[in-house]
Amino acid sequence: MTQSSSAPRFGESALRSRILDDYERLGIGWVWATDRDGKLTFLSETALTTLDHEPKDVIGQSIETIFEVDSDNPDQRTARPLSFQFKSHKKIREQVVRYALGKPAQAVHQTWWNITGYPIHDSDGNFDGYRGSAKDVTRAYERQIAESRLAEYDSLTGLANRHSIYQKLDGVLSAYQASGRSCALMMLDLDKFKRVNDTLGHQVGDLLLVEVAQRLKAIIGDRGSVARLGGDEFLVMLPDLDDRGALGEMADKIIQIVSQPYSLGDKRAIIGTSVGVGIAPFDGDTRDDLIRSADLALYAAKNGGRGAFRFYSSDLKDEEEVRQMMLDELRIALEEGQLHLVYQPVVSISSGNVVCLEALMRWTHPERGMISPGQFIPIAEDSDLINNLGEWAIRTACEKAKEWPEEVRIAINVSAIQFANPDFPTVVASALAHSGITPTRVELELTESIFVGDSDEIEQTFAQLKGLGVRLALDDFGTGYSSLSYLRSAPFDKIKVDKSFVDSCTQDDKNSAKIIAAIIGLSNALNMETTVEGVEAFDQLEVVKEKGAKYIQGFLYSRPLTPDNVSEYFESGDFAIDPAGPDVYRPDRRSVYRRVGAIHEDYYYNAVMRDLSRSGAGLEGIVGLEKGTQLVLDMGEGQLQVCTVMRIDGSEFGVEFENPLVDDGAGGLCTRHRVSRYTIKAAGLPKKPGTAGPNEGKRNESKPLFMEVAAGG
Ligand code: C2E
Ligand code: CA
Ligand code: CA
Repeated sequence: MTQSSSAPRFGESALRSRILDDYERLGIGWVWATDRDGKLTFLSETALTTLDHEPKDVIGQSIETIFEVDSDNPDQRTARPLSFQFKSHKKIREQVVRYALGKPAQAVHQTWWNITGYPIHDSDGNFDGYRGSAKDVTRAYERQIAESRLAEYDSLTGLANRHSIYQKLDGVLSAYQASGRSCALMMLDLDKFKRVNDTLGHQVGDLLLVEVAQRLKAIIGDRGSVARLGGDEFLVMLPDLDDRGALGEMADKIIQIVSQPYSLGDKRAIIGTSVGVGIAPFDGDTRDDLIRSADLALYAAKNGGRGAFRFYSSDLKDEEEVRQMMLDELRIALEEGQLHLVYQPVVSISSGNVVCLEALMRWTHPERGMISPGQFIPIAEDSDLINNLGEWAIRTACEKAKEWPEEVRIAINVSAIQFANPDFPTVVASALAHSGITPTRVELELTESIFVGDSDEIEQTFAQLKGLGVRLALDDFGTGYSSLSYLRSAPFDKIKVDKSFVDSCTQDDKNSAKIIAAIIGLSNALNMETTVEGVEAFDQLEVVKEKGAKYIQGFLYSRPLTPDNVSEYFESGDFAIDPAGPDVYRPDRRSVYRRVGAIHEDYYYNAVMRDLSRSGAGLEGIVGLEKGTQLVLDMGEGQLQVCTVMRIDGSEFGVEFENPLVDDGAGGLCTRHRVSRYTIKAAGLPKKPGTAGPNEGKRNESKPLFMEVAAGG
């Protein structure tokens, strides 16, 4: 193949060119040559025919513009740039190159050649161009790329896979440990994904996962890395982020965006997601510990009910045990009659009359007392037990309704799992038949989460229920997936506006009031009734009335009543309820009972926290404070909060926080940032009042200024 300096004899030359022809024709390889300036002077004809270009457009081009090394491939990247290799006039060995003429590197279809070349020299020893061979290796090379990507990426979604994100996390955590930098981890798991897979098929399920991956990537951007761990589990790594306010907002955004409907081919699907958050170094500073924390937080978030996020906290560890125990006890509770229903009136604003009673489940536990449905319904929903509880509720409520006036309806909550059970319409029919009450008196309260899965089946269930004559209400409207399109297609008689809008309608957030007005307007247009839930104060009543509300369910009119209370009320003959309650709604003052610490100068005092809001807290247990005293509250788990005493009443006092608290995802509040135990240790813990510190007597000691007193229970 290389040039021979002595002129070949005629026969030999013909033979050579025939061998060369065969070599090319058999596809073993092609030959090429350049001149001393690196311009292509020759390429086998069979090679030219595989290219998209005319020979005249290829021959004469500089070899560096025709070929390019693969800069995306780490194995190839280490190779010297092609131009460098050519210019050095060295031998080129088995170099994989991209045929780059007129083709951007991002193009889907690429041609890959493996080239080898030798420099040749004229009789004076001057460089006179290259002679080389080449072959097409596109297939093999693309397979190799795919395999190496496979090791790093999830083949379905293209996100990083478990292996690679774990490696990355190891790297970040070990690099950050020394410098005390933080790194947040979000563990995600899709709610109801299994149902999509089961009802719409795995292919649709796959499409859904791809779409979820895209949405996550769009939200996170370059703030962190998104990975798919497998199944419907995703992980987000966010280096240098420990602000729980920002993390909570991001988690909320993820939940909202992942919960938007998906259109997958001709199918529609809706899922939700739960998010668990762990933050290094506070919740773990090794990969395993941090992942375990985020996992536990995720688990807690899922157990808390629909789409929610949760931060890790050390008391989550026991949650699973408690849950399992509760589920066992709940079975017994149903058998042994520990469950009962209370009824909350829905009142017509204009007349004050009760138009409907919503049945709400209560569990009186023999030892632990009252357990709220918010705690036990989600547990029952994780097992078949919800079907039994639901059936019991429908039968019991219908039976009770028989004793009450015909014009008063009875509303019963139906879990999405019950609704999806094919026996559900039969259960309703049977309860109606047994009690003999008029079907139109029964209102089933459904939430948007029923719209998951096969729309034909959903439609069929709707038709069966409407066939029985019962009314249907869409509960908690505005909190879930909020697609108005359901309202048009589904046969609802009523919408219940969620309490969260009412909570904020008198606050700065004027948006809520507008949303309430819009929902009422919409349901009027669709000939539906609206009930506004959770009205607690007169200022809220005024706003919702002005926005067109006609029916109210809220503490301002009545809390849930026992059936005996309800009967008494109807027997009294006076059907009107007068609203009674505070003039102004006080949003985020929560009653708590929590032991906390208060640090002042060198001393650490114990106190009890009585109420907590974003901006401050009410405490008890320290005397001698003055207005304006600055304290550092230790709320546990590294949550230190600088605050100022604003009011004092004996051992009770109120403080205002320097930095407001943020939502913890579980209905509570937490500090934005935490102080790690290392920092606390390094700073040295202050002394308990009355105890001798390590330096006692060595220097002129201050005395504790205040006194701890035991706070009453
Ligand atoms: P929901 O269906 O949204 O019921 C309304 C909840 O808001 C009730 O809480 C009620 O006591 C509360 N509420 C009503 N007005 C006010 C107010 O003015 N202020 C405040 N702060 N709260 C108000 P409850 O009884 O704790 O029930 C919680 C949830 O548990 C219910 O929310 C419902 O989703 C579920 N649930 C209750 N009973 C059943 C049941 O029999 N079956 C099913 N599947 N779920 C149930
Ligand atoms: Ca309800
Ligand atoms: Ca509701």
